[in-house]
Amino acid sequence: MSDTRGLLIVLSGPSGVGKGTVRAAIFKNNIYNYVYSVSATTRQMRPGEVDGVDYYFTSREEFEELIEEDALLEHAEYVGNYYGTPIRAIEDNLSKGHDVFLEIEVQGAMKVRERMPDGIFIFLAPPNLNELESRITGRGTDNQEIIYERMQKAREEIDMMKHYDYVVVNDEVDCAVNKVNGIIQSEHLKVSRV
Ligand code: 5GP
Repeated sequence: MSDTRGLLIVLSGPSGVGKGTVRAAIFKNNIYNYVYSVSATTRQMRPGEVDGVDYYFTSREEFEELIEEDALLEHAEYVGNYYGTPIRAIEDNLSKGHDVFLEIEVQGAMKVRERMPDGIFIFLAPPNLNELESRITGRGTDNQEIIYERMQKAREEIDMMKHYDYVVVNDEVDCAVNKVNGIIQSEHLKVSRV
């Protein structure tokens, strides 16, 4: 009667929409004990980030070895850097019954959907594109050229929303967090899962 395998939750959406903020707020209390899937990346560490906590920061060579070894569930090249999801920790945690939470961009989410169609795919949407641009600019971490690339990407990504199970508009962080938690907890109550 009971399915003890955890749920794979994929939170995705355009850069700057606030995925990181929503994810941090979810994990601050983490009342449902989700396990966060720490990604590997070749991008530079930002101030305040911690290796092994925010990302596994790797060289391009190390990342390419992970690809060769088939150690990644998916990977994508995003604004000149590699990002990828280590598969082993995901499998271990799901089989122990833990819900595993991924925060990744759209191309990667679509690849996960192909390999793990039982996952729950949540699209975090900006209230509008102007708001998104001011969030990316306000973060102060990217130059003009990168901001332009991220906005181009964002338009393409918003068009992908139709491939997701749920959409949550991030106009207020606490509200978005409650919606994401609500979605996950409802999924646990599905007759097919209990
Ligand atoms: P940032 O450089 O702002 O930390 O991340 C850039 C984008 O890469 C964000 O949209 C973030 O969600 C995404 N990302 C982070 N980790 C992964 C991953 O493992 N795979 C993919 N495909 N995207 C990721």
